[in-house]
Amino acid sequence: MKLPKVVMAYCPKCGKHTPHDVERVKKAKASEMKAGQRRFRRATSGYGGFPRPKFEGREKPTKRVPLRYRCQVCKKATTPPGIRAKKFELVEA
Ligand SMILES: [Zn+2]
Repeated sequence: MKLPKVVMAYCPKCGKHTPHDVERVKKAKASEMKAGQRRFRRATSGYGGFPRPKFEGREKPTKRVPLRYRCQVCKKATTPPGIRAKKFELVEA
């Protein structure tokens, strides 16, 4: 689907609908110092299999696109529930 780069959305800081910039969120690289990552490294090291069971079933046909809306007035960012789409594109309004 195509989504405009600027959308009207509710800003909780301004308390009303304002124009928001739409940003696509990229997955951050897992920090090696975080507890879950340290536990994962410990569990995968040495003898023994992968610590989580293999996924059974079919893969979903669409992926949820992570987005962030940033208020143009106060620059506060909010996270909307992502949109499920096969193809996703941000277009000029
Ligand atoms: Zn705002």
